Amino acid sequence: METLLMNAQEPGCAEAAAKIIREGGLVAIPTETVYGLGANGLDPEAVSKIFIAKGRPNDNPLILHIADASQIDDLCHDVPESAYRLAERFWPGPLTMVLPAKSCVPQETTAGLSTVAVRCPDSPVTREIIRLAGVPLAAPSANLSGKPSTTTAGHVYHDHAGKIPMIVDGGPCRVGVESTIVDLTEKRPRLLRPGGITPQQLIAVLGDLVVDKAVTAQIDKDAVVKAPGMKYRHYAPACQVVIVSGTSRKAAECIRTLYKPGDRVLCFEEELSLFEGLAPLSYGKAADLNSLSAGLFAALRELDDPAVHKVYARCPEGDGIAYAIQNRLKKAAAFQVIDPEDIL
Ligand code: AMP
Ligand code: MG
Repeated sequence: METLLMNAQEPGCAEAAAKIIREGGLVAIPTETVYGLGANGLDPEAVSKIFIAKGRPNDNPLILHIADASQIDDLCHDVPESAYRLAERFWPGPLTMVLPAKSCVPQETTAGLSTVAVRCPDSPVTREIIRLAGVPLAAPSANLSGKPSTTTAGHVYHDHAGKIPMIVDGGPCRVGVESTIVDLTEKRPRLLRPGGITPQQLIAVLGDLVVDKAVTAQIDKDAVVKAPGMKYRHYAPACQVVIVSGTSRKAAECIRTLYKPGDRVLCFEEELSLFEGLAPLSYGKAADLNSLSAGLFAALRELDDPAVHKVYARCPEGDGIAYAIQNRLKKAAAFQVIDPEDIL
């Protein structure tokens, strides 16, 4: 199949994409978080094409993307008042809410759960596609399952050229890491995945937040968890990734003692000179955390190369968007962190 790569600004782009969606096909869509692989989220057959294209395990549910908050009630029941407050404050934007699913949402989308994840993305063309298609768009990240997420149309083309009918190019993703997921189906709101909306921002609206253990620790692959996606090895290049903590100077000293030819260093722009000769790759500035989240997946994809043996990665400390970056990098590293004090 030929893959049409169309710029979001081109006249007729949203109409062409919506037509494919209505006919049960797949379209890769830009969002502010990462590129998604979209299908009619109410059509089991269309949804199953997403799982096949990505090689995604069937027990990993999808997020339904909607054009505005009024669509929540079409898809969810017993919606708590807090959901509308979050939507009012953060939509369109990088926040996904898990709510009880109405029966119109197929099992293929929810992976058999009684809940469904919904989000209104901050991409005008994608919201226009959803409006024109007249259905919510089920869309996971457009990468092949297990690989780092797609943050440019070029990444999607690399993974799916010739296998999906259309990619909408909306430029590089602004946030660069997947949406924050909050579960509102229990007594207390629960953070299932950190993202562009920070825990502090959620607490400001909700007054309370429990952090699921899948956010901060490795989950057994046979475990029954709230966010099934969290138990799989995620976001990682093919080779081993290890995080090296500590100051720039200590980390550089430590990595120099461990480094072998074929290894790479993933670091902050400010550290490039410290890692001279160790094939360093910068993913953004430590002084600008948004540049790190926006650049992380492009860098991890570049390191997904059979010639790379091992990656030593530097990770920002602190909260806010740094918390989401830590989560993605730690998952890519299977939670392996080296403290230079233990090596030097
Ligand atoms: P992706 O779009 O590839 O980032 O994956 C979507 C994420 O949303 C996965 O980690 C899922 O586990 C999570 N998710 C989707 N639906 C639900 C749900 N009903 N309950 C909990 N987590 C969900
Ligand atoms: Mg994903």
